[in-house]
Amino acid sequence: MDNASEAAGPNLSVVIPVFNEEENLAALQERLRRVLDGAGYDWEIIYVDDGSRDRSWEILCSFNQQDHRVRLVRFNRNYGQHMAVFAGMERSKGQVVVTLDADLQNPPEDIPKLVDKIDEGYDVVGGWREHRQDSWLRTLPSAIVNRLTSRVTGVDLKDYGCMLRAYRRQVVEAMNACEEASSFIPALANSFANSVAEIPVGHAQRGGGQSKYGLYRLLKLHFDLMTGFSVLPIQFVSFMGLIIALVGVGFGAFLFVRRLVVGPELEGVFTLFAILFTFVGLQIFCVGLIGEYVGRIYREVRKRPRYLVREMRG
Ligand code: UDP
Ligand code: MG
Repeated sequence: MDNASEAAGPNLSVVIPVFNEEENLAALQERLRRVLDGAGYDWEIIYVDDGSRDRSWEILCSFNQQDHRVRLVRFNRNYGQHMAVFAGMERSKGQVVVTLDADLQNPPEDIPKLVDKIDEGYDVVGGWREHRQDSWLRTLPSAIVNRLTSRVTGVDLKDYGCMLRAYRRQVVEAMNACEEASSFIPALANSFANSVAEIPVGHAQRGGGQSKYGLYRLLKLHFDLMTGFSVLPIQFVSFMGLIIALVGVGFGAFLFVRRLVVGPELEGVFTLFAILFTFVGLQIFCVGLIGEYVGRIYREVRKRPRYLVREMRG
């Protein structure tokens, strides 16, 4: 980390979203402290309590009392993991910002590896979960999303879903300036980074508690990702629409000529139905997609605050 001598702030900020993680916090804090002190960083940890309803906040407050390098932000309700990370990033001061999950799935021991890679000159360093400990219900959609996101953002990464990542200050500042209502941090970061690296990191079973992502939340996240980063889907639809319209015109011309030559078609009803259904289906699909973009515009123009902070410590 280059600017260690600047008295402005610590050189490393660790941002951790927390939502009902009381079973894991003590172990996490202990392991983090050991790693960060061991590596000799001038560090701060920012825990963002995303509206937990268990004892997480009390536990976090005790960390803050024991060690003033631990800073806390508390939301008034649950706004989601990515919003929590944004809130932490906005308050971070480090030259390098590392994010990780609170459930011990991302080993804190891998942080120095990420920071070393940043020191090599990369703007963003992503972790890639080599031996991922999740069910196929999670890994299969992830695989699809990784391919799609790589295409859309133009940055080829193996694992967009891994939240154990490091960012250089500049990139964090750029992300802070984006007041988008819904966003996917790893993809957003790549749109500002000049150079991105990816290194293998460990992945463990969840320490305690359950995953906070049900099917609906996962779908929503992936849909945000698709529509949030490009207009490609909508361009694709327009293109398809054009092609289909041309085919339709061609087909009509064919039927007209056929009628003149062979005579009227007797049992063309089913063909007609097939064509009709194809078109109606496509139209509905297009309307849905346009609706998605309009919905996004609506959310942006309302300019509602993205989250409310209830309390801060440190
Ligand atoms: N999380 C959060 N708000 C939420 C959901 C999750 O802050 O609404 C945090 C959670 O406490 C954890 C991280 O985000 O630190 C990842 O969540 P989880 O482990 O449930 O996701 P998974 O590993 O199943 O993808
Ligand atoms: Mg997890």
